[in-house]
Amino acid sequence: MARIVQKFGGTSVADTDRIKSVAEKVRREVEAGHEVAVLLSAMAGVTNQLVAYVDEVSTLYDAREYDTVVSTGEQVTVGLLALVLQGMGIQSRSWLGWQVPIRTDNVHGKARIEAIETEELRRRMATGEVPVIAGFQGLAPDNRITTLGRGGTDTSAVALAAALDADRCDIYTDVDGVYTTDPRIVSQARKLDRVTYEEMLEMASLGAKVLQTRAVEMAMKHGQRVQVLSSFEDVPGTLVVDEDEIVEQELVSGIAYSRDEAKITLVRVRDKPGVAAAIFGPLADANINVDMIVQNVSGDGEATDLTFTVANNDVERAVENLAARKDEIGCAEILHDPRVVKVSVIGVGMRSHAGVAQTMFKTLAEKGINIQVISTSEIKVSVLIDEEYTELAVRALHTAYGLDGD
Ligand code: ADP
Ligand code: ASP
Ligand code: MG
Repeated sequence: MARIVQKFGGTSVADTDRIKSVAEKVRREVEAGHEVAVLLSAMAGVTNQLVAYVDEVSTLYDAREYDTVVSTGEQVTVGLLALVLQGMGIQSRSWLGWQVPIRTDNVHGKARIEAIETEELRRRMATGEVPVIAGFQGLAPDNRITTLGRGGTDTSAVALAAALDADRCDIYTDVDGVYTTDPRIVSQARKLDRVTYEEMLEMASLGAKVLQTRAVEMAMKHGQRVQVLSSFEDVPGTLVVDEDEIVEQELVSGIAYSRDEAKITLVRVRDKPGVAAAIFGPLADANINVDMIVQNVSGDGEATDLTFTVANNDVERAVENLAARKDEIGCAEILHDPRVVKVSVIGVGMRSHAGVAQTMFKTLAEKGINIQVISTSEIKVSVLIDEEYTELAVRALHTAYGLDGD
């Protein structure tokens, strides 16, 4: 007997027929004698609609109320699945985040899970009951509802699997595993049987939304076995594993892209000590993550342009924050542009091989694509380019690194 956490994403619970198919997947594990807990997302599209409602009434919204609204989609699906399971003769009960409780910090909109109380869940699972738990949500220290950031049900699932000492955490989705790049834009993408935590972490944080970044971080930290597999087809998925479990390591294992980027340029910022701290300190205090940064050495010793990126949904807050301090920062103008995409090549093999970045620059040059910002780490190279070239760039790079399948 094993203890299993199963997570089903939005497309897997998109309507009541699909919820019935999910119930079959749960039944299979229950009938095999396993203890099962299920985490669900909202029906596909519902969270987007809820976010849009909030935007319609308030652009610079209060994050506590944002969470109150956008967490509601999951309440519907957990109740429905519990009902379907009960109808099949399987004991089941739905749980919202606060009922478990799944305790988080108070960073509304992107809260972190701090602790999950599992005593009651364990007791019920031992009797054969299947808890169906709302993903994406938790409870702040002041007892308000929090959400974990878009795609957060992956993190709810891995965190619960770790807290329950589960043998497996199965992430069911609309693709049958992790691919060398998004199979929806590159038909030649290849499915990976295994991927290391580290590569998966880079892929997720660089835009491959198949797993939320924090879910991978958490799996890595707890050594939690995670499998990504299809809700619709019965085929083996992708295992996320330690580096030493992979026999043959590719130089580049994947290409990721993120459209969730906006570029901000501060024109003619004074070139003197302390300026970067004055710009980025208050952004960090406002919970705005800054990603890529480029600054030139100034030609005249006085002023230089500074460009950086933030997430699309933070750009208005960031510009407002900077504009309020424009004199203090001492810049001539604040420009912003949401029509950019970050494209990245990832692979642990890069540690020991030179030339990966060069191949990327050459490939993009051959397609006439201009690179606006570059950033690198030990196992990835990222570039910021015009959004218009997303597909072209990803496909060309996929071919250039020899990743194309049949
Ligand atoms: P869910 O609703 O099940 O959480 P998501 O839409 O969040 O599903 O994630 C699955 C999607 O991730 C796929 O439909 C695919 O388009 C996208 N994706 C991006 N990069 C990859 C990748 N490297 N491998 C697999 N899927 C990817
Ligand atoms: N429903 C939430 C979202 O769409 C959480 C999730 O699906 O993981 O972001
Ligand atoms: Mg997701």
